[in-house]
Amino acid sequence: MTKLVDSYKRKIDYMRISVTDRCNLRCIYCMPSEGIDLTEPGKILRYEELLRIARIGAKNGISRLRITGGEPLVRKGIVGFIHDLSNIEGIQDLSLTTNGVLLGEYAEELKRAGLNRINVSLDSLNRERVKKLTRGDCLDTVLQGLEAAERAGLTPVKVNMVVIKGFNDDEIMDFAEISKTKPYHIRFIEYMPFDTEEGWQKEKCISAKDIQERIVAREKLIPVESRRNASGPARRFRFEGALGEVGFISPVTEHFCGSCNRLRLTADGKLRTCLFSDTEIDIRDALRDGSNDKVIEDILFHAVKVKPMKHHINEELFKKCSKTMSLIGG
Ligand code: SAM
Ligand code: SF4
Repeated sequence: MTKLVDSYKRKIDYMRISVTDRCNLRCIYCMPSEGIDLTEPGKILRYEELLRIARIGAKNGISRLRITGGEPLVRKGIVGFIHDLSNIEGIQDLSLTTNGVLLGEYAEELKRAGLNRINVSLDSLNRERVKKLTRGDCLDTVLQGLEAAERAGLTPVKVNMVVIKGFNDDEIMDFAEISKTKPYHIRFIEYMPFDTEEGWQKEKCISAKDIQERIVAREKLIPVESRRNASGPARRFRFEGALGEVGFISPVTEHFCGSCNRLRLTADGKLRTCLFSDTEIDIRDALRDGSNDKVIEDILFHAVKVKPMKHHINEELFKKCSKTMSLIGG
């Protein structure tokens, strides 16, 4: 049972750890074409520092970890880090989010190291669109990565598709149909407002409800029962006889803040209590000034205490986050 309970009685048992702000792609909704100003290497938390936070978190009830970035698979030593995380007492679920480019190479090793499952981001099945979106010619490599993840048993393999009106919304059904013949969980995610070159516009965001309706207009979806929080914020369904599932995540139009159980740690050692709030709590200094574990623990408790009740995307005064997902750790 977690000891980390916030001011609104939400139990925090899930931490997303960003291991790098670097990436081998430049998705238009996440990074400028020339990349971002990277954090100096010395300011990025070392693996032993990340492990210390994870251990202290686990002692206080963090039982689920997700590794992200930037692109986590570009950081040297990632497999060994996953191995060390998987050996922390109390960690019951260890997952990783990747763009899939290096997955073919790493899937087996990651599984052997103790990774339970994987989320792969893929927004189009059309090679030219993928090129335009990611500024990389990577569709085939990512598809091979998905196969490798399935073979390695990193299951359920989840495929995250960010739906952008006028760009890939005509592929919604194609993605949903993958779940009929593949055991993948296809998750449709609303396009979220971050401060990028491409420029987020509300009109380009299609609500999860609309995405679902488009599918249901073509074919019936059967709800999948899930334990609360077991599937995160996704509303889950499947087609009759399908091997996989589809899910809908609506961070923009219907916030799920009431059941938010997560804390984020950025690669440069800041705790973020909400994806859409620029409030950050530094933990790096304490890790490096000889502070004992009690101090680190107190910082975790403080971050949980100041976690906001909800985000304000749909309110008039909302400002786009000044950082992009690659910096925050999506
Ligand atoms: N590089 C890895 C990847 O792409 O999966 C992990 C980090 S990436 C920042 C995590 C997720 O954030 C990806 O699924 C990506 O599609 C998503 N993302 C980035 N910017 C977004 C935006 N503006 N709206 C919705 N999702 C976004
Ligand atoms: Fe890289 Fe992921 Fe951001 Fe794309 S979404 S630029 S793959 S960090």
